Amino acid sequence: MMVAKRTASTILLSWFVIYPLLATPQSSWQVMSERAQALLSPIEVEIDNRLIQTYQGYAGVWANVASATALSRICKTAICDVPLFKQINDLSHDQKYLRKTGLYFVPFLAKYIERLRESGIERQHVQLKQGQYLWPVTGIRITSRVGNRWGRIHGGIDVAAARGSIVVGATEGTVLMVGDQGAYGQSVFVENNDGTVAWYAHLTEPYVKVGDKIQRGQIVGVSGNTGRSTGPHLHFEIRTQQGIILDPEHFFFMPFAEHLKSAQDYESESATKGKKTELPSHKL
Ligand SMILES: [Zn+2]
Repeated sequence: MMVAKRTASTILLSWFVIYPLLATPQSSWQVMSERAQALLSPIEVEIDNRLIQTYQGYAGVWANVASATALSRICKTAICDVPLFKQINDLSHDQKYLRKTGLYFVPFLAKYIERLRESGIERQHVQLKQGQYLWPVTGIRITSRVGNRWGRIHGGIDVAAARGSIVVGATEGTVLMVGDQGAYGQSVFVENNDGTVAWYAHLTEPYVKVGDKIQRGQIVGVSGNTGRSTGPHLHFEIRTQQGIILDPEHFFFMPFAEHLKSAQDYESESATKGKKTELPSHKL
């Protein structure tokens, strides 16, 4: 008995001696090459459009809904389910009618998303690399770059975009601030996961709340002309955490021009032309 015990403890002891030798930590070369691999391998990003959008990881659509509308009217059985609608929009458990007019997110049921897909309505998919930013608006013309303008520093790029164009997250991050920022107008301020901060400014309306985690391609608002602005455009600005202005144009790599082109074609032809979801915002 004693012998057996001693043998067992000897085995156990030698295991503790041997194990650390076997489980050698990864060499720095391995760590770096895995990191490089992650940065280089493409990931698929979905881009929101007018008919199908993302919020809190759900597919659906933002709708402007009047106070006192019945939830059963918004969430028709084939489109979305009421408990999920309540959860996403922070409504109380027993609520049957909306208590205030405003923007609400209508999450779609999987079978409804399938029906939309069958009729050709879905989000555009693009392949991007880890650190690559998605062009944030359906507009291609940069009307003002980073640099001196009229005796002061212009801290971002201005991209001409028709009022109401969809503005999407350029990269993943957390929303730090939403609202009127004087000269910037209605703005969304995002702390990006890569350590930079981004401003999406002169919006007509923000579609995110403080604390929301946003994905690349997720709608953050619609563009406009609020604040000190001479025409409808998106002002997109990137800074370091210390406030140093970076040039957003350095964050978009080729082939973003192709992405833009296909996004524009998609937006104008396949997605919106003659097609409607059953829940366009103006109907509610
Ligand atoms: Zn600007």
